[in-house]
Amino acid sequence: MNHDSLKIPQATAKRLPLYYRFIQNLHSSGKQRVSSAELSEAVKVDSATIRRDFSYFGALGKKGYGYNVSYLLSFFRKTLDQDEVTNVALIGVGNLGTAFLNYNFMKNNNTKIQIAFDVDEGKVGSVIGDVPIYHMDDLEETLGSKEVPVAILTVPATAAQSITDRLVDCNIKGILNFTPARLNVPPTLRVHHIDLAVELQSLVYFLKNYPEASEEK
Ligand code: ATP
Repeated sequence: MNHDSLKIPQATAKRLPLYYRFIQNLHSSGKQRVSSAELSEAVKVDSATIRRDFSYFGALGKKGYGYNVSYLLSFFRKTLDQDEVTNVALIGVGNLGTAFLNYNFMKNNNTKIQIAFDVDEGKVGSVIGDVPIYHMDDLEETLGSKEVPVAILTVPATAAQSITDRLVDCNIKGILNFTPARLNVPPTLRVHHIDLAVELQSLVYFLKNYPEASEEK
């Protein structure tokens, strides 16, 4: 994100990609304005939160008019640096890693997995979904010569911390951690943790204990 976004609270910043995706859809369907109630229904965030979020970046909706879609779109594009592709490395081309290489995120936003690494000689040297797979031994040398600020970790949990330490030295700024391991990192590196097993367990728990609730809080 660019520097103007620094004053936006983190909780708001986390919702920006969600808003952006919906506004993109509205724009491509030719819609010129949208109310906070419509947005709320589509992205499942309450409209008071949406109005507060939008007020941080100067998008003041008018009563009976709503928000201007083109204005919102250009704001999000600029704030989320959507005019620039962010290169991503993926470490661990197992079942989950392979699925990400084939999917490769380009449909929704401008992040692209450029390069992947594994220790399995049978995978090294192959290409999945346009992404070449290198050996972990070549991590420092290969990443050192490329502009890759983000890494996705889809390795076994036992390998996660030592790989993370190496990624720190490769100047990686952000890690999307799909392993169950909790990572120790310096304050200059941001980790977002997605433990799919925990998320699934939590969903099942909520279904059992709060069967009426339809919205994520
Ligand atoms: P698969 O069925 O291909 O083994 P998986 O997702 O069930 O996939 P995992 O054991 O979770 O297997 O490993 C994921 C991937 O991480 C595998 O391709 C494995 O070779 C790779 N891997 C294991 N250790 C490391 C490591 N230290 N560095 C990089 N990649 C590793």
